[in-house]
Amino acid sequence: MLPEDVASELEKVLLSEEEIAAKLAEIARRIEADYEGRDLLLIAVLKGAVMVMADLARELKRPVEVDFMAVSSYGASTHSSGVVRIVKDLDISLEGRNVLIVEDIIDSGLTLHWLKQNLASRNPASIEVCALLRKPDAMKVDVDPRYVGFDIPNEFVVGYGLDYAERYRNLRSIAVLAPHVYS
Ligand code: 5GP
Ligand code: MG
Ligand code: MG
Repeated sequence: MLPEDVASELEKVLLSEEEIAAKLAEIARRIEADYEGRDLLLIAVLKGAVMVMADLARELKRPVEVDFMAVSSYGASTHSSGVVRIVKDLDISLEGRNVLIVEDIIDSGLTLHWLKQNLASRNPASIEVCALLRKPDAMKVDVDPRYVGFDIPNEFVVGYGLDYAERYRNLRSIAVLAPHVYS
């Protein structure tokens, strides 16, 4: 789905499909260099990070394993609850693995902070974070992502996996939702 297909529901397009692809290619080159000669397990948090995971994994010119986890966070609201619950756990053991958490967005950082601690307790060899988007509030919690695609303003965005009430995940760009949609 393209921005023009839901033009009246969007305030503005923040990042185009091309900008996202170029940034993921850049990040992929860094990951290839950083993990040279080591195994790599990509872990994405459903559902928002599915697009980032699919495109980043295919952009990598090396074998990786992938696994998915589902945790509860936002629901249909636009504010972080801070309450995290595992809805679907990993299938793969993390013992001795190099883990890279692939995230769509870090807002308050609460979800990721909790997730990093949870995964770290499973004895991986290393654990790092790659987030496509980061908002200013993320600075308040120590999640220290190794790879960040874009720092964006403190606005509610949708597209490229990110939803509002489960809509707009299939939008190819990342856009700011028009306030009339959720007010
Ligand atoms: P955090 O715990 O860092 O505040 O946010 C965790 C989750 O909230 C993200 O993974 C994402 O699902 C959701 N979220 C945060 N900011 C936004 C946003 O601007 N748009 C959408 N659609 N989801 C967001
Ligand atoms: Mg997420
Ligand atoms: Mg959501």
